Amino acid sequence: MFAQAAQRLGYRVLVLDPARDGPAGQVADDQIVAAYDNTAALADLASRCAACTTEFESVPAGSLAYLASCGLPVSPPASALAVCQHRAREKALFAAQGVPCAPWALVDSPASLAQAQSGELFPGILKTATLGYDGKGQVSVARPDDLPQAWEALRGQPCVLERRLPLAVEISVIVARGHDGHSQVLSLQQNQHRDGILAVTQWPAPAVSPELAQEAAGHAHTLVGAMGYVGVLCVEFFVLGDGRLVANEMAPRPHNSGHASIDACDSSQFDAQVRVLARLPLRAPQQHSAAVMLNLLGDLWWPAGQPDNAPREPDWQAVVGLPGVHLHLYGKAEARPGRKMGHLTVTAPTLPQAQDVARQVARHLGLPAMA
Ligand code: ADP
Ligand code: MG
Repeated sequence: MFAQAAQRLGYRVLVLDPARDGPAGQVADDQIVAAYDNTAALADLASRCAACTTEFESVPAGSLAYLASCGLPVSPPASALAVCQHRAREKALFAAQGVPCAPWALVDSPASLAQAQSGELFPGILKTATLGYDGKGQVSVARPDDLPQAWEALRGQPCVLERRLPLAVEISVIVARGHDGHSQVLSLQQNQHRDGILAVTQWPAPAVSPELAQEAAGHAHTLVGAMGYVGVLCVEFFVLGDGRLVANEMAPRPHNSGHASIDACDSSQFDAQVRVLARLPLRAPQQHSAAVMLNLLGDLWWPAGQPDNAPREPDWQAVVGLPGVHLHLYGKAEARPGRKMGHLTVTAPTLPQAQDVARQVARHLGLPAMA
């Protein structure tokens, strides 16, 4: 989606991806097939590009630092990526900037595990400090006694233990910060997760007051400023039952919860990322339609819920003719349960109208009902 936005402006896009013919590689003008830490490949990339970004936050920060050392403008900067890809560094930044987050403790040794057991963090969630996404690398921990086994299940990797909070809603803010240090909130949306994976995004966020939106936007501006961030970034927040806003995590890139900007706005989060890289003036997307975005996971390829059977392409025919439906499929070769294969955005003049069509789509495709 980033490559397509760049190409619309006449840029050519070179992708480095260890997998041949991945979604970005299929669209890009050229691809280097190599590991993310292959120095020769990175040097090749640096010699052929005018600017560089990453769509995947688990690219080693050292690789971005190397590209920058070759003189290539890299956004986000390696230092900011290093913060966002490590949950403990991220939470330390939240604390330093006065952004509330869930009570937590680092678990990276038998001693720190014992200390976490004596804290007020239960029931909790143990999350690997790095490489977690879509709820992967997380284990629920009901009681202190369950913690050693949970840590073992995560193979003793460095983890954070977080208290499980009573969530009223989840929201996210997408913000972009340019090379001139000026940041702009692109969008704020309401998200519903299933099994730790984003399932539904609604925009505008129906349960968010203007005051709460302003508070979340303020935190997003603070965080990108503190990191000297350049590029598009998403901050995920929890809204608790008592109305308190708590930061969950950051994603140093355009985010799944912002995909509706492609169809519901005059410019998207990907356009914003291109503008930052190309040093063009940043402009907040103007939303012209309300939107409901539904993620399309690989599970849909097994309507009977039986991954042993041969996968079957979902019945797109039944939904693409409905009003305001925009289907996006990423071209991933193989469907797998829990794997994001695409998304579908419903746009309409009002949110209730978009919700109505989204419910019809969900029924046709066999998606679980929207909350
Ligand atoms: P990922 O990196 O996989 O997105 P998150 O930390 O965002 O991991 O967790 C995924 C989802 O799990 C969240 O969006 C939320 O629904 C739930 N979750 C995570 N942490 C907590 C928490 N401390 N309390 C309650 N729910 C949580
Ligand atoms: Mg998340």
